[in-house]
Amino acid sequence: MSLKKTSILFSFLAIAIFAIFSSEAYASQRFADVPSTHEAFHQINYLEDRGIIEGYSENGTRVFKLYQHVTRGQAAKMVVLGAGYKPLKVTQSSFIDIDPKTEPELSGYVERAMSLGLFNEVPDKRFKPHTPLTRGEMSKVVATAFKLDLEEYASYPSPFCDITSDHPYFKYINALYYNGISQGSKGKFNPDSYLTRMQFSLFVARAMDKQFRLTVKPVNAQNPCQHQTAPEKTDTIGRATVNNLNVRSEANDRSEIIGKLNRGDEIYVISIDGWWAKVNYQGSIGYVHKTYLKLLSQSGSKVKNRIIVLDPGHGGKDPGTVKGKYAEKRIALAVANVVKRKLENDGAIVYMTREGDTYPTLQDRVDFAHKHYAEMFVSIHVNSASSSSAKGTETYYSISANDNELEDRALATNINNEIVKQANMQNRGVKRADYYVIRHSVFPSVLVELGFITNNEDLSKLVNSNYQQVFGNAIYQGIVHYYSN
Ligand SMILES: [Zn+2]
Repeated sequence: MSLKKTSILFSFLAIAIFAIFSSEAYASQRFADVPSTHEAFHQINYLEDRGIIEGYSENGTRVFKLYQHVTRGQAAKMVVLGAGYKPLKVTQSSFIDIDPKTEPELSGYVERAMSLGLFNEVPDKRFKPHTPLTRGEMSKVVATAFKLDLEEYASYPSPFCDITSDHPYFKYINALYYNGISQGSKGKFNPDSYLTRMQFSLFVARAMDKQFRLTVKPVNAQNPCQHQTAPEKTDTIGRATVNNLNVRSEANDRSEIIGKLNRGDEIYVISIDGWWAKVNYQGSIGYVHKTYLKLLSQSGSKVKNRIIVLDPGHGGKDPGTVKGKYAEKRIALAVANVVKRKLENDGAIVYMTREGDTYPTLQDRVDFAHKHYAEMFVSIHVNSASSSSAKGTETYYSISANDNELEDRALATNINNEIVKQANMQNRGVKRADYYVIRHSVFPSVLVELGFITNNEDLSKLVNSNYQQVFGNAIYQGIVHYYSN
């Protein structure tokens, strides 16, 4: 074999070996949160192969954080690298919110991105690198960095209801659409919404490589936008219980974020399916996780259609606290039955974790509430103490892992006050404690200790069927009050 032939053979071998290794690398999982079955798996690997994304290291595990918003700074880095440019090193930053000494990498990519005209000029010399990128900004960043044919598509009709030809990002958005890079959602582009790191990765991969592009559907210029319109008013208002609450395009937590609500904001609820409330968001259909909406019926009773889980404590083999022939489990069930009847009379949908003398575990009770898509959870108990002088009512709420602390406290206060007033109990107040059944639920969840089995005065009420009616009525009215303001 001649020397030349040997070297050719060697080259072939090297290419073959390289191909085997690179295809294996291509198929392997890089990030714990991007499995090979994920829709963006190939695109994200493609970008990682080219050093365009790195992801994060968390406790020794590499993650990409697919569903976090992509920031302006991250976007600058990805497109500068993706389009084959180098960072632009400067000694004096063009922006007062980026210091090239402490953040040299960020500075380099942002300076380059601005020099290429990928972003609009920024006011007050603030680039806001850690602010999420909007979809409108994205269109300009991607279309400009990858030199899409902007002028050609500027004469084409917009496929999006919310983008007219005088929209500042019109030509960029059209270029993305007609190049198969973005198709919007349900006929809209939502230029003011943020996008996730996954979505931005898909757009960059499509811009870089035609293998990833979408099939472009023809747009009929005569055909006005067809999108679902939301009814203006409905019978139920949802009031946001937290800030920064996502309104999504579909009833799942991976769909596009089309808006945000802050605590106290109110929207009309069209219907509820599982955890998701279909709402009128600025005239369009949107979806909000109902755990973060206080649902307020606009006609009839305040609890109409509300899903309320009552949890009579203990049961079966577990009597709870006991005094003579009296057991907590029976008192709790008797009072819960009263609450149930009254709520149901008002049109609420009530589920009980136990209807008889059975023992669901604490986890069973939590699972039960989730299975029924509970909007509220009220656990009913009786207290005891070594001192017979301890007496009165107290109500607990949990703050662990709970964004709805304010709602929990409001519900606990309403119930506690009603019991104290109606059953003439000593007020021991509303307290925080991470009891199992309330700490594992984000919807408003409280645990009521009606009174002390170890105190004679409390005991005489707890075991009296007339007083059990009073306790039950007080809890019922506490719930109604909670929904009344
Ligand atoms: Zn108990």
